[in-house]
Amino acid sequence: MSDNKKPLNFIEKIIEDDLASGRISRLKTRFPPEPNGYLHIGHAKSICLNFGLAKKYKGSCNLRFDDTNPEKEDEEFVESIKQDVQWLGFQWEGDIHFTSDYFDQLYEWAIGLIKEGKAYVCDLSPDEAREYRGSLTEPGKNSPYRNRSVEENLELFEKMRAGEFDEGACSLRVKIDMAHPNMQMRDPIIYRIKKAMHHQTGDKWCIYPSYDYAHGQGDAIEGITHSICTLEFEEHRPLYDWFIQNLPVPSEPHQYEFSRLNVNYTVTSKRKLKQLVDEGVVSGWDDPRMPTISGMRHRGYTPKSIRDFVESTGVTRTDGVVDVSQLEFSVREDLNENAPRAMCVLNPLKVVLTNYPEDKRETMTAPGHPNRDDFAERLLPFSREIYIDRDDFREEANKKYKRLVLGKRVRLRNAYIIEADEAIKDDSGEIIEVRARVIENTVGKNPEDGIKAKGVIHWVCATNHVNCEVRLYDRLFTEEFPDAGGKDFMNSVNPESLKVLTNCKLEMSLSKPNTDIPYQFEREGYFFVDLKDSRPEHLIFNRTIGLRDTWNK
Ligand code: ATP
Ligand code: MG
Repeated sequence: MSDNKKPLNFIEKIIEDDLASGRISRLKTRFPPEPNGYLHIGHAKSICLNFGLAKKYKGSCNLRFDDTNPEKEDEEFVESIKQDVQWLGFQWEGDIHFTSDYFDQLYEWAIGLIKEGKAYVCDLSPDEAREYRGSLTEPGKNSPYRNRSVEENLELFEKMRAGEFDEGACSLRVKIDMAHPNMQMRDPIIYRIKKAMHHQTGDKWCIYPSYDYAHGQGDAIEGITHSICTLEFEEHRPLYDWFIQNLPVPSEPHQYEFSRLNVNYTVTSKRKLKQLVDEGVVSGWDDPRMPTISGMRHRGYTPKSIRDFVESTGVTRTDGVVDVSQLEFSVREDLNENAPRAMCVLNPLKVVLTNYPEDKRETMTAPGHPNRDDFAERLLPFSREIYIDRDDFREEANKKYKRLVLGKRVRLRNAYIIEADEAIKDDSGEIIEVRARVIENTVGKNPEDGIKAKGVIHWVCATNHVNCEVRLYDRLFTEEFPDAGGKDFMNSVNPESLKVLTNCKLEMSLSKPNTDIPYQFEREGYFFVDLKDSRPEHLIFNRTIGLRDTWNK
């Protein structure tokens, strides 16, 4: 895709204007995750946008952990987030940053605000504070503690910091305007008491800055020029600007908002994803059914397919929900072009070729990819006994069924045409074997008697193959909007989202499968080695995605 030809999105327009007018000389963005969960497809959008803009305009992008909420944060999440960003193909500039790196500076600036009479320690309980705050239709009321003297505020704030008060006993608030039409401006809290261990700062602090107080200042300290976030922060922008104007910050970042990415048939909220993990609905944050980046990686989605998908959703200020099939389309498109081909029989049924000598062995050849010659040719052992899929045989069928039927012919992909003679059944009537014949001289040719085969099926040699397990995934939720209107998303978890097949037969050339990219198992879909559970002696493949969209009405 040529960057110059695509119309600019609204953020690119702003950046180009800022570069042209000289407001900035170099673009600097940041991706600011809170390390309280694994990243999901929505975060991928923010990553591609922030890092992508930095790349496009030859600027840079920081990775900053917004770690102001110690109770919910964890080092495990920090590591997973770093891995996800790099896997998506991006690199932050220099070291990673933590908002907690700025705790000292933020504390000093808070003291500065107190000294200027712009901040005060407030003893209202959370419930009282809510009452005093007013509503969208009613102005708030000034806190009775609003007019404390500078000296008293300095002393109380120092006591807060020293751990002399209980959690919730008081907070530090900035003095703006309790009647402001924007509720965010009604003397927001900038420090709360939290007696919690912090994963970066240990027990150094028992007061923590609010997100609003910390975020813009972190941007200013890092020299971020464009602080890009999602639309729910639009209302916070005046407060963002207030801090920048009222503190001696080293630079003047601006905030811009875009609409979040929402995808149907899933949930994208770390809290809800955590619930799925905690309640054992899925095997972990990286379960292949999860919309997390690690889940998608586990399943076989490629970084390119995720970047392409995100790109296809555009950057706007209008909220909406993207159809998950748009994501699946990007995955299929990438894999169709780049996945090596192979044959795997998922539900094996043995076929004995009665006219093929027992000790005869042949090797068929097949392209690694139908239209790429940079893929190695595959060698397929062939013998008297083979496996085909149960769905590919019927005793009788109408003309629409173009697979193997008694008395009819079918082509084995890359091998002979065969004709079925007999179905052998067990006592319960289940077909356990098919007897058939090869039609001589039909490898790569039509039969001499002129009776052609109607269809082509895949197969695997019964004496020379690899056993494997295959995990088939379906959407995690049966409802299109699992959490719409406050619905409990746990009620629409799809009970059939995972199906395990333990007796699959894989062609020999995959005895040591590639772990960089999924394979296309011909006629079945795209399958990726399960990098967590697969063992050389017990191969496990995850179905990334089927060949076609089977959900389309
Ligand atoms: P969640 O609601 O899942 O907890 P969050 O917004 O609290 O997400 P953060 O870790 O704060 O998660 O997000 C880091 C960055 O990713 C923020 O800039 C946020 O705006 C952005 N982001 C989060 N979710 C989405 C989304 N669905 N679409 C686009 N950007 C998102
Ligand atoms: Mg957040």
